[in-house]
Amino acid sequence: MYYDYSRLCADITAAEEKKHSLSRFSAGRSVMGREIFCLKTGGGKKKLFLSGAYHGLESLTSAFLMKFLEELLNHCQTDKEYYGHNVNRLLEKITLYIVPMVNPDGVDIAINGIDPACDLHRELIRDVGMCGFCEVWQANARGVDINHNFNARWKRIREHPSPSKHGGPYPESEPETQAIINLCRRENFDSMIAFHSQGGEIYYDFNRQTAPRSLELARKMAKASGYKVRRPTGTASFGGCKDWFIQEFGKEGFTVEIGHGTNPLPLKMLDEVYDENARLTLCLMEEM
Ligand SMILES: [Zn+2]
Repeated sequence: MYYDYSRLCADITAAEEKKHSLSRFSAGRSVMGREIFCLKTGGGKKKLFLSGAYHGLESLTSAFLMKFLEELLNHCQTDKEYYGHNVNRLLEKITLYIVPMVNPDGVDIAINGIDPACDLHRELIRDVGMCGFCEVWQANARGVDINHNFNARWKRIREHPSPSKHGGPYPESEPETQAIINLCRRENFDSMIAFHSQGGEIYYDFNRQTAPRSLELARKMAKASGYKVRRPTGTASFGGCKDWFIQEFGKEGFTVEIGHGTNPLPLKMLDEVYDENARLTLCLMEEM
């Protein structure tokens, strides 16, 4: 079982019904018109942006973010310590913005496969051919890899629409990318984590650029989680959200690769990856 868009919508509705300190707005819409939700909580001056599911096969990151949000709000209400942190104090200092599913169309294709009744899906089959969509699909509904579409040393790795690594016809060509860029520019975040799967790794730099505390914070997050601090190489070293965030704002931005195994990591692995990622996120919040 996997965490799909309808599950996300249901979880957001349930969270909103319970918690008065949670608000939701739209960051934009996907190629197929799905809402790219942003959830906001906390009231502090510092702003932290958490996001996941840039890639179709990585919706376990959405499940993690929704559970993390729910647990934070639960601990706010009970005022109990959470992994040794006082959540009320953290959320007085920080306003948290969470986009749990940046690429809902890609997640849908990876989980539910291709719908022959859908015009856009038929176009995709024409462009990329038939493939095991549920095993390989990372891109959006136009065959563009969102995490290669950001304007940070953007280049074409693959010329044509593809299950992964096609950066699009030009940088920021996709509505999902534009939604994240507009949100970041409007809110002027102090820091961000983009969650991907898998590998148990924390990436903190771009093109040898790092914000002042990037490495120090990455090391602390690694200590909190047991993950490894890494520098990206090859095709992973440009065009991503974290790359663009570091280049554009000069602030600390991280990619975290959650868990270990073969994508798509199933929902039953949520408990296994939850602790380590909650700890590293709380560690960053504490340090902000
Ligand atoms: Zn990814």
